[in-house]
Amino acid sequence: MAKDRYPMCARCPTRVCESHGRKVSDGPPSLEKAPAFCPMRLMPEVITKAVSEYDKSEVSEFARLASIQEFECYELLPGGMRTRNPRIEELIQFSRKCGYKRLGIAHCGGLANEARILTDILENKGFEVASVSCKVGAIPKERIGIKAEEKMAGPENWESMCNPITQAEVMNNLNVDLAIMLGLCIGHDTLFIRYCRVPMTVIGVKDRVFGHNPLAALYLSGSYYRRLMTKEG
Ligand code: SF4
Repeated sequence: MAKDRYPMCARCPTRVCESHGRKVSDGPPSLEKAPAFCPMRLMPEVITKAVSEYDKSEVSEFARLASIQEFECYELLPGGMRTRNPRIEELIQFSRKCGYKRLGIAHCGGLANEARILTDILENKGFEVASVSCKVGAIPKERIGIKAEEKMAGPENWESMCNPITQAEVMNNLNVDLAIMLGLCIGHDTLFIRYCRVPMTVIGVKDRVFGHNPLAALYLSGSYYRRLMTKEG
């Protein structure tokens, strides 16, 4: 792909799409200051088509509630803007806003303790909470072609495969109001998202090194994890 042929918001020098203190009376921002790689310049038809989805009342209402949730996470104080709600409280608040009663946790077997704590919290807040571990089915890894020497616990040991498709189908079958992904591995989470047909959100992603906070590597990429910035390929 030619460099100015695909969007690169991450490298935008102007971010004119954002508010930047604009008043409602100023109207929408001009695209003149948007870079050539701006998706608003490159693919206006895509944007128009996507935005038309909000004309659907169900979608519009969901988006409205999500924006109200966002709004409620800040306080505009004389000293400046303050944040106030951790994501776990947002999960509770947003679920209540949406009228959700039945939640489902799709968790990693390695985060069974976290899944139990999350269940306690959500049940204490009045939700019905189902949960399903990634090892559900107890299917041996050989089923997907894993070789003996590719098993973490050693070639002679049984290893149940992570089974995100089944996790998703359990959520679909229960028809939970909201499925919550908790700590699934990379790739396994991709499969879960692909097969999950009920509304879903994420409370945690797997990072074995950084306590499930992968962004810590970004924050350390100028120091202890400088190797991430080494150019390759
Ligand atoms: S949408 Fe355009 S203006 Fe906004 S961040 Fe992306 S490139 Fe910049």
